[in-house]
Amino acid sequence: MHDKVDVLIIGSGASGAAVAWSLAETKMHILCLEQGDWVKPTDYPSNGRDWEARFFSDFATSPNRRKRVTDYPINDDNSPIKIVNFNGVGGSTIMYTAHYPRLHPSDFKVKTLDGVADDWPIDYETLEPFFAENDRMMGVSGLAGDPAYPPKEPPMPPLPLGKSGMRLGKAMNQLGWHWWVSDSTIATVDYDGRGRCINLGHCTPGCAQGAKASTDITYWPHALRAGVELRTWCRVREITLDEHGMASGVVYYDREGKEHFQGAEVVIIACNGVGTPRLMLNSVSGKFPNGIANSSGLVGKNFMLHPYAQTYGYVDEPLDGNHGPPLCLWSQEFYETDPKRDFVRGYTFQFGRGVPSILEAIVSTNVGRLPWGDEHHKIYRRLMNHRISMSAICEDLPEEHNRVTLDPVLKDSNGIPAPKIDYTISENSRKMMEHGIARAKEALTAAGATIIGGEVPILNGGWHLLGTARMGTDPERSVVNEWGRCHDVKNLFIVDGSVWVTSGGVNPTSTIQAIALYIADQIKQRLANLFD
Ligand SMILES: Cc1cc2nc3c(=O)[nH]c(=O)nc-3n(C[C@H](O)[C@H](O)[C@H](O)COP(=O)(O)OP(=O)(O)OC[C@H]3O[C@@H](n4cnc5c(N)ncnc54)[C@H](O)[C@@H]3O)c2cc1C
Ligand code: SF4
Repeated sequence: MHDKVDVLIIGSGASGAAVAWSLAETKMHILCLEQGDWVKPTDYPSNGRDWEARFFSDFATSPNRRKRVTDYPINDDNSPIKIVNFNGVGGSTIMYTAHYPRLHPSDFKVKTLDGVADDWPIDYETLEPFFAENDRMMGVSGLAGDPAYPPKEPPMPPLPLGKSGMRLGKAMNQLGWHWWVSDSTIATVDYDGRGRCINLGHCTPGCAQGAKASTDITYWPHALRAGVELRTWCRVREITLDEHGMASGVVYYDREGKEHFQGAEVVIIACNGVGTPRLMLNSVSGKFPNGIANSSGLVGKNFMLHPYAQTYGYVDEPLDGNHGPPLCLWSQEFYETDPKRDFVRGYTFQFGRGVPSILEAIVSTNVGRLPWGDEHHKIYRRLMNHRISMSAICEDLPEEHNRVTLDPVLKDSNGIPAPKIDYTISENSRKMMEHGIARAKEALTAAGATIIGGEVPILNGGWHLLGTARMGTDPERSVVNEWGRCHDVKNLFIVDGSVWVTSGGVNPTSTIQAIALYIADQIKQRLANLFD
């Protein structure tokens, strides 16, 4: 039996860390339960020459391949895009690529602008101070003045463009299309105890240098110093309810598989767009036989993923290869709806440098570009370090049939039912991807690329998990209200990407964290009458 805490946060990733840090100033007793462990920077693959192999084993992006005991399996057989994540202190920021755009003001009102989906009950202006606060806490590098956005001031200078960035930027100028240096959470100068990027180029499976901002090295050290308690190896099975219909705490398993009850006055879920609906659907009671706070029936529905259309090409001149962070510029030329196109909404292009050596060999051999025999080494030299790429991050609109449910058979190592994904790519997203591929071919050709290939959609590209407990003012059409509180359970909050109403066409973590800080601020402002 543990003492009851004031605030219990489940999940220590991008959003859980932000909300923990923000609430710490209240001096309440705040506890975060995380199913995974701390990851030591010395354990990251980038410390060894076998790093590419480990990217497909203990540091694979898919939990089904990684199979750590701290992971839970996900049945994504019925989805053309497979789910990727990381479970540990820092959550999926341990494995993210640190590309850090914000949603646009238009993203919050797509119903008004385009007559599709729904408007959000909040807007860009509401989030603006929290974007800025989060940029400072995560440490964002970038260049002020991007005409695609309202004014913003990244606290660090931008990543260098390098040879590939320069070449792509010139091609975009030639076409007259928008491009800008990406905002990124990679430190370009020493920042808040973190070393600057030294261009190791292995950013995604963890940055041993500490230049990439995962929340274990940004928010958590500050939150812990401010008195927040973080308990690792604690996998929450369900959120419990008291006789008044309020959340009373959680049941969780520790590292040895022992069951515990932890009481709390307020419970905050931050388990991401798959983990959160899974936990809610597993939390059944007489009052909520279909999952806690699910009177709308929407928990798990409207799952959005951002289909990625990736196009790449090879140029004659050797470029940077994979030396340095892979993503350093973006284009939002095709972001907003254009009635001349056959789809609504749009996408961001993220531009990529080359891929590492073994991956280049495997992919090129698989598609028949790299033959065995006499020509092998000559052609490999022509491919390696010559690759540039563009990926269209396509806005996915919410559809109820895209959903997270509980798998009837599959369970994690504690016997808790695992999530099952049913997802199809909509006609609108398909047309958007086709548009993105055609435009990418134009741009890559303008950049001097000859051989052109692609991956559409990126198979292991289910990294943006959104929409499964949506925000809204109508309890029949949403799960949480405009400040993140469940309509049905007044001391239960959700702060991760589940609350998104629409997906925008950008990598989401900057906005996920800004929303988490905004919800924390709402909680602080309403402490006296939080449950009214
Ligand atoms: C390979 C990859 C590349 C990516 N690249 C980018 C990028 O460049 N830019 C970008 O914006 N985003 C990127 N993302 C996405 C980004 O990582 C996520 O948007 C972000 O981390 C989501 O934050 P979150 O708080 O919702 O969840 P997470 O960060 O996933 O954290 C959830 C935490 O909850 C814990 N948890 C779940 N269930 C339970 C339970 N029952 N009990 C206890 N703990 C639990 C998990 O262990 C995890 O630590 C990428 C992701 C991946 C995997
Ligand atoms: S390129 Fe920079 S951010 Fe990426 S792993 Fe290396 S040091 Fe870290």
